[in-house]
Amino acid sequence: MHISQEQAIMFQGGRVIDPYCDRDEVADVIVVDGTIAAKAPANIKIINATGWIIAPGFLDMHVHLREPGQTDKETIETGSQAAAAGGFTAVACMPNTQPCMDTPDVITQVIVQGRAANHCAVYPIAAITENRAGRVLVDFRALKDAGAVAFSDDGVGVEDDSVMRAAFERARQVGAPLIQHCEYKKMSDGGIMHLGKVSQQLGFPGLDPRSEEAMIERDIDLCRQIGSHYHVAHISTAKAVELVRKAKAEGLPVTAEVCTHHLILTDEACKSASPNTKMHPPLRPKADVAACREGLLDGTIDCVVTDHAPHTEKEKGVGFPKAPPGIVGLETAISLAARAMIDTGLADWKKVVRWFTTAPNEILGTVDRGIEVGKTANLTMIDPQATWKVDKHTFLSKGRNTPFDGWDLVGKPVGTLRGVQLTLSLTRQGNHNKTVTR
Ligand SMILES: [Zn+2]
Repeated sequence: MHISQEQAIMFQGGRVIDPYCDRDEVADVIVVDGTIAAKAPANIKIINATGWIIAPGFLDMHVHLREPGQTDKETIETGSQAAAAGGFTAVACMPNTQPCMDTPDVITQVIVQGRAANHCAVYPIAAITENRAGRVLVDFRALKDAGAVAFSDDGVGVEDDSVMRAAFERARQVGAPLIQHCEYKKMSDGGIMHLGKVSQQLGFPGLDPRSEEAMIERDIDLCRQIGSHYHVAHISTAKAVELVRKAKAEGLPVTAEVCTHHLILTDEACKSASPNTKMHPPLRPKADVAACREGLLDGTIDCVVTDHAPHTEKEKGVGFPKAPPGIVGLETAISLAARAMIDTGLADWKKVVRWFTTAPNEILGTVDRGIEVGKTANLTMIDPQATWKVDKHTFLSKGRNTPFDGWDLVGKPVGTLRGVQLTLSLTRQGNHNKTVTR
């Protein structure tokens, strides 16, 4: 990865896709002193962007950076560096750290360290309840004032009805989204993969998909009564998608995200018994994958995320039943989204760009920046025709826990620009670039 400070730079001849102003055309993009400019000054650095897509900076609104407290898995430095290498100019990070992100001090610490790392914007998501224990609400106002962009107990759902009702009320008062990890432990406890044919074949305890759907149902009901923005994290079943579809049709302020892996892999992958096919929510059968794709296409699901969840090799190396759930995703996300939605003929790059830019920024109310003259540059560059082989050893993340190691993918992020900071990852070791026709 190459990082440089560029006072004047021109991306020449790229395809500019900007959903903020519905733009899709071949054009030069000029950046002077970190701001999009109309005219190129003398001595401008020119980058040949022919064949590239130049888009507004991508945001992954669901990552685990593990810091503070679990720096053997990941740090804000390595996680945000992995994000930039994966084509992201911003990430929103979940509060299941140690200590938990449930006080203004921890939120401030994450923001300060994100800025110091300076690889991408780091937006902290605060816990809904103290220590994510599901009992006592955090101080929503103080955490919002400290810079939290949303609230979530991710890793677990808020099970208690009265606590969740009160959370909706507090979230409405401060005007922040509630992001729910939808899972009733009382229904899913002991399950290590999706409950179904494959779990029966493998003899693994199954995780009942109704644990996800029942919580979404309860929450949509609360949303209807209280009217505060509710966001479903990592949606994964056909019925869950249908519940959100109906809630949106009713006009409720409900949004949803889907993980790249839930758009590609099914529970059949668990037959490998690789711990890197274990995640929460678990990989689902084909019909659920199809429903998630369909939900994205019709706007029921708003955006795509990674749920980037790094673990050490040691932690993951204990076999499927005992391994912690989750996989890394930042450095494969854009290519995998293309694999799921473009290679299949379902969508085009315009849609993929929207799922990673306008959509998550609208949900979080974060930086809203199109490629317009006078705006601070915030760009993601993609080579949609580059083919590459995933090699986990080249990841900048500390995590190597991916089920996609060795996969051949088409479409690759080649860099980001934030203000004057240019990050190019054209020559990542071990990755070969060649051009194919898509
Ligand atoms: Zn979660």
